[in-house]
Amino acid sequence: MVGKIIKGIGGFYYVYTEGDILYECRAKGIFRKRKITPLIGDNVVISILDYKNKLGNIDKILPRTTYLKRPTVANIDQAVIVFSLSQPEPDTNLLDRFLVMVEEKDIDAIICFNKTDIVPSEEIAILTNIYKSIGYRVVTTSWVNKDGVEELKAMLEGKTTVFAGPSGVGKSSILNLIQSEIELETGEVSRKIGRGKHTTRHVELITFQHNSYVLDTPGFSSLNIDYMEQIELRNYFREFAKYAYECRFKSCRHINEPICGIKEAVKRGDISETRYLSYKQLFTELDNIRRW
Ligand code: GDP
Ligand code: ZN
Repeated sequence: MVGKIIKGIGGFYYVYTEGDILYECRAKGIFRKRKITPLIGDNVVISILDYKNKLGNIDKILPRTTYLKRPTVANIDQAVIVFSLSQPEPDTNLLDRFLVMVEEKDIDAIICFNKTDIVPSEEIAILTNIYKSIGYRVVTTSWVNKDGVEELKAMLEGKTTVFAGPSGVGKSSILNLIQSEIELETGEVSRKIGRGKHTTRHVELITFQHNSYVLDTPGFSSLNIDYMEQIELRNYFREFAKYAYECRFKSCRHINEPICGIKEAVKRGDISETRYLSYKQLFTELDNIRRW
């Protein structure tokens, strides 16, 4: 039987399988010997040891598509990057940093601008258009009047999604709204989990709408980019690709080089100035790290 690990506690893995049944599983010794640790989000093949008590063994971990550290979770399809339109003011430089991290991990990004209830729509359009024109999926929401929440929910269907963003923007509020309609299975096993004495927080995938999962805690808690190669950075600003052929040098870093397609596109207004500023700032940051 194939399923997905949605949580792990003290050597037990809780595997969600078709028919909405949760099995409590042990990983076979072969994983320990090979130093392989099953992760939350892993798709696994299990064998059932006890149907009544829903116990099983993890026999095989299927290949991972993506891998996220902090929190450690496999097979994330997409990240909803939440920023508020006001209170706190959107920091586009920080947003672009989140996007770089998501691009680097090869995870799809959805940008969610929350708190539409406190910002005039003309202002919202200016910001959203920057990211829509790049090709990002953008959704605007309000926890207060439920604006856009159905649209966001539809985007989560059939996917495994992590929410990310700075604090205070409304991530928990929006996640709660979405979860309120999630029908959680409360079988034998999950009742047992609920009884846990210690209050240590475990990362967990929440299932809803069948085959859709949301990580219950924000991802990308570390926004450190120092492991990145400086020259890679240009690949993570996806709107650059279209203009890079105009650069004189293939190796163009789009900073000081003469005849640079990116800089020309910024001048023409084809690439947003704030995006280019973010690029330069992150580029300098990587430069400093290398020098130190
Ligand atoms: P998190 O830190 O990103 O999880 O943010 P929270 O969900 O804790 O929300 C931070 C604050 O913003 C709380 O006081 C919420 O009530 C408020 N908030 C969340 N969403 C909205 C919204 O759509 N509109 C307004 N006006 N306030 C919101
Ligand atoms: Zn260039």
